[in-house]
Amino acid sequence: MSKILVTGGTGYIGSHTAIELIKSGHEVLIIDDLSNSKIEALDIIEKLSGKRPVFEQFKLRDSAKVDDFFEEYDIDAVIHFAASKAVGESVAFPMKYYKNNLVSLANVVDAMSVNNVKNIVFSSSATVYGQPDKLPATEETPILPAESPYGNTKQIGEEMLLDQTKASDTFTAIALRYFNPIGAHESGENGELPMGTPNNLMPFITQTAIGLRDELKIFGDDYNTPDGTAVRDYIHVVDIAKAHIKAVERMIDGKTESQFEVFNLGTGKGFSVKQVIESFEKTTGVNLNYSIAPRRIGDVEQIYASTEKANEILGWRADKTLDEMTLSAWKWEKHLKENK
Ligand code: UDP
Repeated sequence: MSKILVTGGTGYIGSHTAIELIKSGHEVLIIDDLSNSKIEALDIIEKLSGKRPVFEQFKLRDSAKVDDFFEEYDIDAVIHFAASKAVGESVAFPMKYYKNNLVSLANVVDAMSVNNVKNIVFSSSATVYGQPDKLPATEETPILPAESPYGNTKQIGEEMLLDQTKASDTFTAIALRYFNPIGAHESGENGELPMGTPNNLMPFITQTAIGLRDELKIFGDDYNTPDGTAVRDYIHVVDIAKAHIKAVERMIDGKTESQFEVFNLGTGKGFSVKQVIESFEKTTGVNLNYSIAPRRIGDVEQIYASTEKANEILGWRADKTLDEMTLSAWKWEKHLKENK
């Protein structure tokens, strides 16, 4: 059993990871400022895992609080989710993103080094690849100039960690590049909780289906893809959560092959927006009201992951299907409505 600090642990991916960590026998401590999540997530984590994590609410931008936390608790590893993630907002308020995502990371890494905490898993994103020339995207696919301040914080975050590994013989970081996490816990009791208008496809679909929104707009049907809509590698959030357990245990067990490792987290399969809608309609029996709208600025045409490295080296494989993703997301949306 290890003591794992999960920053952003009440958020969408963080809360699912906290559940899987506790189920794997680890002790979980959460820091979250609740800027994009609710305190009730702790009740859900406790209910679904059997144990309530230690929780402190503060901003990681506050270095004194971060230092105090690391002094108080004897942490074995950090999984760092805490970050702002709305691409459009990052274009409008870039400094919010640099402060929230990068000053915070610097504070965490500093406190780790002072307190001799060696291991960190970092939430990165497939957005670092932009639109690759060749698909699937491997971890060697060139990183392109970021399309948004949000994307830039993921690139710079990886570089910060790489630099820290060069400054220390023992500091180890694993960056996990997420493709498109969707879906919810099989119980239907934990899932994505967008504040205000969702930015991503799946919550937009479920909110439209339940009547919170009039219609879904498909952003572009003139892409060079089989049905003209953009293609992504959607991956079940619980599969993503499980990859974090593999990554953190790999570091704690001293199995990393270098001090800085990168893995793609995807299924290796690309699905179009229309295919996601079809899966949703098929699994739920609900017809979705949608129309075609212009392309969204900054969107790439298609991307999906090479999963070879994660499969072979991390020893992890996503095993849930698109139908399981869309059905679980619907179960969660209905649960939200019933528990309003
Ligand atoms: N998308 C859409 N309508 C929406 C939200 C998203 O057609 O209301 C499309 C979007 O253009 C992209 C795909 O769904 O092709 C996935 O978008 P999302 O924002 O979920 O993820 P990302 O753009 O980060 O891959």
